[in-house]
Amino acid sequence: RAVSASVGGSDEERIERAIRPHRLADYVGQPVVREQMGISIEAARRRGEALDHVLIFGPPGLGKTTLAHILAEEMGVNLRQTSGPVLERAGDLAALLTNLEPRDLLFIDEIHRLSPVVEEVLYPAMEDYQLDIMIGEGPAARSIRLDLPPFTLVGATTRAGALTSPLRDRFGIVQRLEFYSVEDLASIVERSAGILRAPMEAGGAHEIARRSRGTPRIANRLLRRVRDYAEVRGQGVITQQIAGEAMKLLDVDSNGFDLMDRKLLLTLIERFDGGPAGVDNLAAAIGESRDTIEDVIEPYLIQQGYLMRTPRGRVAGRLAYQHYGLKPPTGLET
Ligand code: ADP
Repeated sequence: RAVSASVGGSDEERIERAIRPHRLADYVGQPVVREQMGISIEAARRRGEALDHVLIFGPPGLGKTTLAHILAEEMGVNLRQTSGPVLERAGDLAALLTNLEPRDLLFIDEIHRLSPVVEEVLYPAMEDYQLDIMIGEGPAARSIRLDLPPFTLVGATTRAGALTSPLRDRFGIVQRLEFYSVEDLASIVERSAGILRAPMEAGGAHEIARRSRGTPRIANRLLRRVRDYAEVRGQGVITQQIAGEAMKLLDVDSNGFDLMDRKLLLTLIERFDGGPAGVDNLAAAIGESRDTIEDVIEPYLIQQGYLMRTPRGRVAGRLAYQHYGLKPPTGLET
């Protein structure tokens, strides 16, 4: 423990950078996204144009940032990165836009959190590569118009529904990332283990993949923890058994559910009689924010059928009762 604590965040970041894929060919899974983006990139390159604006949505850790970087690399252009909440004033965005070189890619993470004034600046920039900017204040204020180089805006968001429709409509390409299959996650973990030079058996990769909530970021994080465990408690080789033991210690259960998943599902079952329960009530009961529930915890539980979103609130699925060894109420479907 003391050793890994002293190594700290920067080392984890270095590892993170090393295992992040840089080319579309190394981007595992997401076959539709890969094929569509491959064609768009090739076409834009042949015409010598900027890639059309791309909106990427999907839960955290599924590869939105990674894809944005890959797009820039495949187009052979620079990537500038910012995020919705960071761009407070119109001038912040204007400064970024006026520094772009032709065909450069501007990546805005959490684009659903842009302020309305900043969003207004974005519309003509996206549509006509023009920037309307107010200078001065009061009666002396005037608006000037600047031409921008053709550029590509890549926006990422965890929720497509939170975007205003004028903004959404200005993206020529919209990609939705899906949770990854166990097979895809196993190949991500195998690739990462190779880069980290961590010896791993196929059973070990499968065990990690199976418990990663369909999410590459979680798979890579579990891999790093299991590797620690294999080195300290085992012979250094990540076997299925070692992976299982390590995961037990990490409180990751047989489905890959962690403490937050358990809290949410058990609270819903035990305190709200299985629901329907409003998401705000659930948030208060488990001491998490509504955003965390909606963005981080529940998408995977819903996709897997453990939780349902109904007009009257969240409802626990039969699988959730079974998973925690509880008897589902009679008449509960699914
Ligand atoms: P997001 O921006 O959606 O939160 P990231 O792009 O930061 O997610 O992805 C998290 C990590 O998962 C990355 O560092 C990368 O190593 C890994 N990853 C994501 N998508 C893929 C993929 N398709 N293939 C391989 N690794 C991936």
